[in-house]
Amino acid sequence: MKLDVDVLRYLSKEDFRVLTAVEMGMRNHEIVPSELVDRIASLKHGGTYKVLKNLLKHKLVHHDSSKYDGFRLTYLGYDFLAIKTMVNRGVFASVGRQIGVGKESDIFEVATEDGTILAMKLHRLGRVSFRAVKSKRDYLRHRRSYSWLYLSRLAALKEFAFMKALEDNGFPVPNALDCNRHCVVMSLVQGYPLVQVKELQNPEMVFETIIGLVVRLAEHGLIHCDFNEFNIMIDDDEKVTIIDFPQMVSVSHHNAQMYFDRDVECIYKFFGKRFNLSFEEQADHSEVAEEDAEESSRPSFSSINKTAGFLDKELAASGFTRKDQANMDQFIEEGSNEGILSDDEENASNLTEVIVRDTDALHLTEQPEQIQEGERAGKEETGQRVEASSHEP
Ligand code: ADP
Ligand code: MG
Repeated sequence: MKLDVDVLRYLSKEDFRVLTAVEMGMRNHEIVPSELVDRIASLKHGGTYKVLKNLLKHKLVHHDSSKYDGFRLTYLGYDFLAIKTMVNRGVFASVGRQIGVGKESDIFEVATEDGTILAMKLHRLGRVSFRAVKSKRDYLRHRRSYSWLYLSRLAALKEFAFMKALEDNGFPVPNALDCNRHCVVMSLVQGYPLVQVKELQNPEMVFETIIGLVVRLAEHGLIHCDFNEFNIMIDDDEKVTIIDFPQMVSVSHHNAQMYFDRDVECIYKFFGKRFNLSFEEQADHSEVAEEDAEESSRPSFSSINKTAGFLDKELAASGFTRKDQANMDQFIEEGSNEGILSDDEENASNLTEVIVRDTDALHLTEQPEQIQEGERAGKEETGQRVEASSHEP
């Protein structure tokens, strides 16, 4: 994914106005009819069409004329909207190099006005192989599918809410700073993902700490669900930080036991292999072994004193509803393997080429335009409900 922030610098007020109009139209259109974009943006003298051309050139929108003439946002377009909002809010002032790429996110360094480096995570739920989508297109037509926009935004909101709640409860997680659209800004963790660490001074201690965290999470009513060497960061002092929370579930989830055991198993396996830790598993028939193994016996889900409800309480406070959770669960359980990207975007999003900018490359201080009037115009003239959405149940 090429995040060329220079382009962002040269985009005009009108460009952002039209880009925002496309975003608004996407609340109830997968492809937003050109006239609707024009009405929402309400630029003078057909200005919208000229701007759309420019947005198209920079791959911020995608043109689709299969059913009617229309546009939709690309990931890049959505990225720009979120980044601009963050910059306007003063959360950061520039975007730097990419530091991580996951199946469902891209992570960049960003810098504040005073030079502090932070981490920005752009969620990409629904980013998948176009080939997989192609082969499933017919099937997709009959399936209730949520837009990637909606899912990515939910994932970001959930991650932000969890990170905050976990930090408040004393867990070692990054400091969650802000969230907009599919974008979460957090403190930069000093250190490396455990998967890159070949040697530890105290592997036993680190192991105990990590297993202790899985147990403590469960005591708080939570299961990470992706607790592995990629989502555990470790610094030079062997201090552990947990990251990556969009898939967390409550201990009352119907598969809770399985998720918990899987998280635990991942850690046992990794430490066994990488650091040669051997674990005395409790053998039912040997009392001696049982005594010896007391210290390192695997935590069992059923014997943990769990306080379910933490999740619901903390999330409700953040605006992430039960229904949002249900929609995300449904998406994840259905395999999350269907996206709605075009060839262009597929190619763009699979490239992890990023233009590295120095930290003052991007300075955008304009205030965002209100698009109330255009929105109203679009509503009246087309009879569309701009507020409600068929994609955002
Ligand atoms: P994904 O959901 O795509 O796996 P992660 O949140 O796990 O996304 O982030 C992917 C990678 O980006 C991590 O493995 C880590 O290397 C890096 N990363 C993520 N968040 C931070 C952070 N706050 N500080 C430093 N590096 C980070
Ligand atoms: Mg991860």
